Amino acid sequence: MMKQYREARESLEEDTLLLFRLGDFYEMFETDAEQGAALLGITLTKRHDMPMAGIPSHAAEAYLSKLLAQGKKVAICDQLEPPKPGKLVKRGITRILTPGTVLEERQLEASHNHFLLAIDLDKKGARAAWLDLSTGKFALCAQEDPGDLFSLIHSLSPREVLMAESLGRKLEMMENGKALCEDMDRALGEITRTERPDFDFEQRSGAREVMESLGVMNLEGFGIDLEHPGLGPAGAVLVYAEDVLKGKPGNLTRIEEYRTGAALLLDPATQRNLEVFRTTAQTRKGSLLDSMDETVTPAGARLVESFLARPERDIAEIERRQCCVQEFSQNPRAVEQVREILKTGADLERILGRLRNRVVRPRELGGLRATIRGLPGIRQVMSDIGDGFPAIQSLAAGIELFEDLTDLLNRSLEEELPAEIKLDVKGEGGRVIRAGYNEEFDELRDLAGGGKRWILDLEAAEREKTGISNLKVKYNGAFGYFIEVTKANLHLVPEHYVRKQTMTNAERFYTDELRTKEKEILNAEEQTVSKEQQLFEEVVQQALQHAEGLSRVARVLAEVDVFSSWGAILRDRDYCIPQFVDGSRELMIEQGRHPVVETVLKKESLGLAGTHAFVPNDTSLSSSDEQLCLITGPNMAGKSTYIRQVALITLMAQVGSGVPAKACRLGVVDRIFSRVGAGDELARGNSTFMVEMNETANILNHCTADSLIVLDEIGRGTSTYDGLSIAWAVVEHLHGKDSEGPKTLFATHYHELTRLSDSLPRLKNYSVAVKEWNDEIIFVRQVTPGASERSFGIQVARLAGLPEGVVGRAKQILATLEESDASATRETTTEFQNSSLNELSEPEGISLAPKPKVKRVSPRVDPSQLELF
Ligand code: ADP
Ligand code: MG
Repeated sequence: MMKQYREARESLEEDTLLLFRLGDFYEMFETDAEQGAALLGITLTKRHDMPMAGIPSHAAEAYLSKLLAQGKKVAICDQLEPPKPGKLVKRGITRILTPGTVLEERQLEASHNHFLLAIDLDKKGARAAWLDLSTGKFALCAQEDPGDLFSLIHSLSPREVLMAESLGRKLEMMENGKALCEDMDRALGEITRTERPDFDFEQRSGAREVMESLGVMNLEGFGIDLEHPGLGPAGAVLVYAEDVLKGKPGNLTRIEEYRTGAALLLDPATQRNLEVFRTTAQTRKGSLLDSMDETVTPAGARLVESFLARPERDIAEIERRQCCVQEFSQNPRAVEQVREILKTGADLERILGRLRNRVVRPRELGGLRATIRGLPGIRQVMSDIGDGFPAIQSLAAGIELFEDLTDLLNRSLEEELPAEIKLDVKGEGGRVIRAGYNEEFDELRDLAGGGKRWILDLEAAEREKTGISNLKVKYNGAFGYFIEVTKANLHLVPEHYVRKQTMTNAERFYTDELRTKEKEILNAEEQTVSKEQQLFEEVVQQALQHAEGLSRVARVLAEVDVFSSWGAILRDRDYCIPQFVDGSRELMIEQGRHPVVETVLKKESLGLAGTHAFVPNDTSLSSSDEQLCLITGPNMAGKSTYIRQVALITLMAQVGSGVPAKACRLGVVDRIFSRVGAGDELARGNSTFMVEMNETANILNHCTADSLIVLDEIGRGTSTYDGLSIAWAVVEHLHGKDSEGPKTLFATHYHELTRLSDSLPRLKNYSVAVKEWNDEIIFVRQVTPGASERSFGIQVARLAGLPEGVVGRAKQILATLEESDASATRETTTEFQNSSLNELSEPEGISLAPKPKVKRVSPRVDPSQLELF
């Protein structure tokens, strides 16, 4: 046995833990045991000086999840045949589990795609491929700018990344290499990294590997050129998957090319700032994803996630989704019925992934059966909705019913199914295949059962004959059946009992009769088990013949789940379906709201006069007219919320869902950029200002007239005058000299910037209104045209609970500062407009002021605003 162990151990990489099946346990030995015990918090024992640690096989999945969650790779060495008394069983490595290649339900996060990503660089740029083995989703891409890799990593959030051995070196040698390496490191974070040899990433062999795995002669059907650089990493993914699965992945049927131009792009910083997948506190709750995901199946939740990871730019596809959502929203009863049925199904996509990759268990078929049993119901509800709803009818048409398969599974399988089919001969067989399905199997099972009864009868008979009242007939794996007699009764043992084994308190015997019967029983049981196994395999094979159809249906069900839930949201939350205008560069939102903040406020109890209700606001942007909106207003007024809501509404629109607004009309956007000034992201380390500037540079270098940019307090992370100068220059740059520029919302507390509207025709000033009442400040959350008056910092500070004494003193200081600095500040701001920014230094005497403040009434102030004061 130890020889088997050594052989298995030697065939593995150093960093892979080996779990070795011994009876009812998986054991770890030597250094594996030490490591495993520490990671799992289980006892480390010693036998003949060798460290050992074991986990019971029935609880293995939970322990495995724990190891994988800690980024470990684990090899499973299993028994390959039923153990027989007195014989060494055959063992072999059946699977290697790594964080990116697991398939077992327990180890997968139900609502999250589980990607294994491979990345590499060549002369032309970055290339990548990714695979979710559990669902068969497989894609590749090539990108000129290695920086785009980081967006990809962020939006996929893979579980494991394969990197070509030389990747680090290649990155370093690039221009900007050090920064790239750091960015890469940050993007990868805690994700398990696995180095693979460079030749695994070779383009040509990758192409061959991909075609072989998909069973095709070329990749034209997928629109992928055989020279596509992404095929290198795609090959690396496949080779690795084959290594760990101990066989080719069985559920790959297609590969997609991820084209940068086809999707709305959000770089990692934007995804973070908009809290698309996670909040800044790293929780899913409170993110946009969370608020858009009201699905009832894991596949539905994953689809919402992948829609958000890749918002569309294709109006036809967006409108297809919108129609489904709209129609579902008009049929709330049907939505409820469909959702009820969906809940009874299992995760079909992943079940297929497991079955096709040889992780085959009775329960998988049970789940498959539960799902297809629901299909007729779902289809019926959807077709009952009627022809007036064509989008739903075309979804319904995609739901095949698999009547034959349902019938087969009903007839062949027990209603309650065990997690595993037992290879054991202890009479555990016969719990998977239903009685009456196969005659031969029924007979075998009767035979084995009959033998068991004979044994029970034997015990009673022998007690009677010998007069040993505590005589027992028992079974164990090493010795088979035997008669056990305690020491005290040994003198009563008859002649024909043959001694088999001596224990401390008892002796074990067999008789010729028992031996013959034992053979018979074991034989019948073994045959029952293997017949059951065989029948089960046959059922699995027949089910797998429908695999392609089933995976198509799985996809349709996921869409039904997503669109019906969005339909319900559209109704319940009073969203609207946005209207896309082909080729337009405008964005019009009537009474827009922030999807997440609105929900949070709704949950809080209403204050006086509904002060907690979310206040909707309009937006009108156009690359050629109102291109750049500058939004000023005191702290806490609602600037950040407002500009983010515009970005989120645009993103939601291009994902195909409804949006929180009364009406919305827009043209397709190519990229959304969102940045927050450094002060808001203190958690990200001390070079935050540098990061902020890096990110701003990235925007200025990549935006187009089709982009939407949302900048929040850019320039705040440095001294006032530096910051103001930078903000000033950024605004000028974004406005540009051409007749068009990216649609931009710029929230700032630098009031000086509002003067730019004099020189920049497409810049419009807005402010978030507040009312002042007896020196108190009241937030009305309304975005109104015109620049804001002043910043109300002291009033806000009082609201926050600063002691009255401090508030009073602050007012005194402010008054003095404003008086003495008003002229100086005015000079400075005029200077800005006339001079090159680099020459500016901070004027003396002003650095004390937290922000330069000028008390003035803006000539552009909206008259309606004046009545507020
Ligand atoms: P600012 O960026 O101007 O300092 P925020 O956008 O951070 O202000 O908003 C401060 C708080 O005001 C938010 O946390 C939110 O609770 C509330 N708020 C913002 N906008 C609205 C709105 N339109 N309606 C209701 N409450 C709002
Ligand atoms: Mg803010």
